[in-house]
Amino acid sequence: MHTSYDLHTHSRQSDGTLTPSELVTRAADVGVEVMALTDHDTLSGIDEARQTAERAGLRLIPGVEVSVTWNRQTIHVVGLNVDPANPALLAGLQSLQDFRQWRAEEIGRQLRKAGIEGAYEGACRHAQGVLISRTHFAHYLVEIGRARDLRAVFKKFLVRNKPGHVSGRWTDLEQALGWIHAAGGQAVIAHPARYRLTGRKLRQLIGEFKECGGEGLEVVSGSHSQQDMYNMAGIARECELLASRGSDYHGPENPWIELGRLPELPQGLVPVWRDWPRHAA
Ligand code: AMP
Ligand code: MN
Ligand code: MN
Ligand code: MN
Repeated sequence: MHTSYDLHTHSRQSDGTLTPSELVTRAADVGVEVMALTDHDTLSGIDEARQTAERAGLRLIPGVEVSVTWNRQTIHVVGLNVDPANPALLAGLQSLQDFRQWRAEEIGRQLRKAGIEGAYEGACRHAQGVLISRTHFAHYLVEIGRARDLRAVFKKFLVRNKPGHVSGRWTDLEQALGWIHAAGGQAVIAHPARYRLTGRKLRQLIGEFKECGGEGLEVVSGSHSQQDMYNMAGIARECELLASRGSDYHGPENPWIELGRLPELPQGLVPVWRDWPRHAA
């Protein structure tokens, strides 16, 4: 049997809905053997996840999903096997958290102008005192009946040219990879098919990513179609990138995505875990 890897997941420490401990327990229950916790722009769930993983017999990979602005667009880079105590990484992530805080207040002001009261406060309530995300605004807007589900809220309010949209001003590729590598990690471009880049632009992104020392592409993702997966497998081979596999699980509210429930990596790819120690905890 193959080891079951899920290298992209979220807890309540960012925009997921399970605590790190609940997430790890669920992963172990559904048969995941190696799981990376990759919350957006924070490492604050790693300690708790690690403790539960030890008890559950699951191998926990400390990770993070870093928000990057590239070519005026938001791109996500997953860092795997990072040292969660690394000062350069922690300081970098703090700057992203500071931007998130400012952006949240700004989204609140924009939505108020559009006639929606209390969005900032409502989003803070959903964020429960940890990092704040557009997802928390989405939960609030669904709660007050402004849209049917998260997807509909994003479409109506939170994306470009909509009333609650505030442009991302994250870090750049070079800095993001600098932080991940300073912390001893590997960098992986998350859900590459989600950005709707042309083949040319995607290759440009990968070219710059590789110049910065980037190592991997998330070929298998919960947000990829089968066709996306085959396309990205071709690009990973062509560009000689390691291949990763992750569900991008955010919680049981979304029945379409489950921990570890993903296709195997397509043939002819080098897995990002190839050189990982086999039995290390
Ligand atoms: P943020 O990093 O705060 O800008 O929020 C981005 C997060 O919002 C992503 O990580 C997804 O979890 C979520 N998201 C983005 N687009 C959508 C969508 N169309 N439907 C549901 N969730 C989305
Ligand atoms: Mn998310
Ligand atoms: Mn993402
Ligand atoms: Mn994610």
